[in-house]
Amino acid sequence: MFLSDRERERKAAILKVESEVIGAAREFLREEGFVELLPVIVAPLTDPLRHNTDRALIEAYGGHWHLTRSMIFHKQAAVGVCEKIFSFSPNIRVEPPDWKETGRHLWEFVQLDLEVRNGSREELMDLGERLLVYVLSRVLATCRAELEALGRELTVPTRPFPTFTYREAQRRFGDDYEIALSREARTPVWIVDFPIDVREFYDREDPERPGILLDMDLLYPEGYGEALSGGEREYLPERIRRRIELQGLDPAQYRALLSLAEEGLPPSAGFGIGVERLVRYICGLPHVAEARLFPRVPGELSLI
Ligand code: ASP
Ligand code: MG
Repeated sequence: MFLSDRERERKAAILKVESEVIGAAREFLREEGFVELLPVIVAPLTDPLRHNTDRALIEAYGGHWHLTRSMIFHKQAAVGVCEKIFSFSPNIRVEPPDWKETGRHLWEFVQLDLEVRNGSREELMDLGERLLVYVLSRVLATCRAELEALGRELTVPTRPFPTFTYREAQRRFGDDYEIALSREARTPVWIVDFPIDVREFYDREDPERPGILLDMDLLYPEGYGEALSGGEREYLPERIRRRIELQGLDPAQYRALLSLAEEGLPPSAGFGIGVERLVRYICGLPHVAEARLFPRVPGELSLI
C-alpha cells in the first residue's frame, strides 16, 4: 500500500467511520427484530437490473453461476422463513469503464439489503428514515475527531424527509433529475411512484394505478445522489411472469423464481442501501472509492 502518512490518516478516519456505520446499522436492525443472514455470493439466479452490466459468471460443477448483483430473490424467499431479514451483501456489477467518473460507482460494493414480510412501502420508508437518523447520530457521537479531520460538517436531518413522485421530479428537474435534485436538496429526499418501464420487474405495480409502481428511491442531499432503492414486491406467479415478459426477458430463465412463487412467496417490501455511498455522504468524499481500502473502480486495474 503506497500511502503517504497523510493519506493513511485520512483512510484510517474513513474506515473508522465505516466500521461505526456498519455496527450502528446492525444494532438498529437487530433491535427492530431483524435477523441477519449471511450473504449469498454465487447463485443460479440474480437481479436482472435495468441498466447493466456484463454478466459476471463463474463455472462450477458443470453449471454457470452468477456472482450476486443483488440478493433480491433470496430476500423474497427468506422472509418466508424469518419475518424480517437483513444482510451486508457483496454485489458485483460490471459497470461501463466511464462510470468511474460518476464518483458513485464501484463494481464491487456492499449493500445493506433488507426485507420485511407483509411490509408496505410506507413502513419501509419510515424504517429507512429511522435507520439513517440512527446511524448519523451514532457517527456524530463517536467519530467527532474523524469527521473534523475529514473537514466534514454533518447534521442529522429531521424527519419526515420530503417526497416527490417520479413525475414531479422529472417535470421540475428533467430526466437527469437525480443529480439535479440531490444537488439542490438540503435533506434526504424520497422519489416514489416510478413508471413501470423504468424499473425492474420485481417492483410491485399498484393495483389501483396501473403502470405505477409501489417503489421508492432515497437521494442524499448535496449532490451525493442515490442512497437506496426498494419497494413492495410482485409475489404472485402470474404477475411476475407478466412483468418478466413486459421487460422483454425470457420467463424460462426465471423458472426457479416462478416455481418459488407457485409454491407461495409471501408479500413483502424492502430496500438496499449502499454502504460505501452512505460512508461517502457521511464523510463528504469526492469519490466512493475512498470508502474502500481495496476499491474496485470500473475500468481500473488493481494491484491488490
Ligand atoms: N434490489 C434492489 C437493488 O439492488 C434493492 C431492492 O429493491 O431491495 O437495487
Ligand atoms: Mg437503484
